[in-house]
Amino acid sequence: TYTLGPKIIDWDSSRQKWLRQNRGFPNYVNGKPRILLVTGSQPGPCNNPIGDHYLLKSTKNKIDYCRMHNIEIVYNMANLDEELSGYWTKLPLIRKLMVSHPEAEWIWWMDSDAFFTDMLFEIPISKYEPYNMVVHGYPNLLFEEKSWIALNTGSFLLRNRQWSLDLLDSWAPMGPKGAVREEAGKILTANLKDRPSFEADDQSALIYLLVSRKDEWMDKVFLENSYYLHGYWVGLVDKYEEYLESSHPGLGDERWPFVTHFVGCKTCGGYGDYTMESCLKSMERAFNFADNQLLDIYGFRHKGLLSPGVKRIRSETTRPLERITRLSFPLFSCTRL
Ligand code: UDP
Ligand code: MN
Repeated sequence: TYTLGPKIIDWDSSRQKWLRQNRGFPNYVNGKPRILLVTGSQPGPCNNPIGDHYLLKSTKNKIDYCRMHNIEIVYNMANLDEELSGYWTKLPLIRKLMVSHPEAEWIWWMDSDAFFTDMLFEIPISKYEPYNMVVHGYPNLLFEEKSWIALNTGSFLLRNRQWSLDLLDSWAPMGPKGAVREEAGKILTANLKDRPSFEADDQSALIYLLVSRKDEWMDKVFLENSYYLHGYWVGLVDKYEEYLESSHPGLGDERWPFVTHFVGCKTCGGYGDYTMESCLKSMERAFNFADNQLLDIYGFRHKGLLSPGVKRIRSETTRPLERITRLSFPLFSCTRL
C-alpha cells in the first residue's frame, strides 16, 4: 500500500534534541511559535494565461501579509510525489517541510486561490497551544451532517509533531492517482452529505478520517469558526464597500474577513462552478481590497477596487520619519501619524 515515506516514529524526541543542539534555530521567537506558510501551484503554465497573472497577485498578497507578520513563506511548484499529484501535493509537501524545518513550530498551508483580505489580523496562535491542527470548520456539520464542506482544507495549520506525521500517513492513502483515487471517491460520495461524484479529494478524505476515527484524532484538532481562517468568496466579495464604510481591518470575522477563498473557481483553466469572468473580477476586487491596506502605509490607494492603477492619498513630505510611529506590528509599525 501507499506510504508518504519511511515511517518516522520518534520525531518529537529527535526534534527536541535537534532544537537543543541548534539554539540558533529556535521554534519559538520572542515567545511566539515560528510559523512557515506554504503555498504553491502546478509545475507548468496555466491553460489560460490570465490565470498566471492572478497566481502572481495571490503570491504578492501572501508575501505582503507574511512580511508584515514575521511569517516565513515557501512557494512550491514541484510535484514531489508522482502519485499524490494535484491538490494532494500539499500532503507530501507539508511532511517534507516538517522534517526539513524542525525549527518551524507550525506549517500553515494556504491554497493559491485564497487571498488575505485583512492584512492587520493575526491568528490567535496561543489559543491553539493544546492542539496540533487548526482548520476552519463546524462541529455540527462534521459529526451530525457529515457534510463534505464541514471544513475546508484551503487554509489550515499543522503543528510540527509526530502526531501530524501520523495524521498525514492516515490521510494520504486515498490520494494515489488513478484507480485508488477513483475508487476512494466513490466511498467518499457514498458517505459524505451532498458530495458530487468525483475522485477522492484531500478535503473529503480528511473529513472522512475525522468522522470515522473521531476518538483517535479529534482531541488535537481545533475547528475554528470565530474568524475566517477560510472564507467562502461568494457573499464576501460583494461586501467590501460595506466593510470600508462601517468597519476596520484587524477583526478577521464577518466584520472584515481575514481570508477570501475562491472555492469553485478554476482560474488557471479547466472547468469550475462559476464563470471565469465573475471569478476574475472578484479576485481583482479581493486583491485590491487587501492591497489598499498595504498601500495606505506608503500613501497610495487603488483608484477603485477593480483598478490596478493607484492614486496618491497623502502629499509627500521633506521629513518622512516624522510620520513613522512604532506600533505592535512589524510593518504596520511603519504607519502614518
Ligand atoms: N496545487 C499545487 N499543485 C498542483 C495543483 C494544486 O500546489 O499541481 C495547490 C494550489 O495551491 C491549489 C491547491 O493545491 O490552490 C488546491 O488545489 P485545487 O485543484 O483544489 O485548486 P483550487 O480550486 O484551490 O484552485
Ligand atoms: Mn482553493
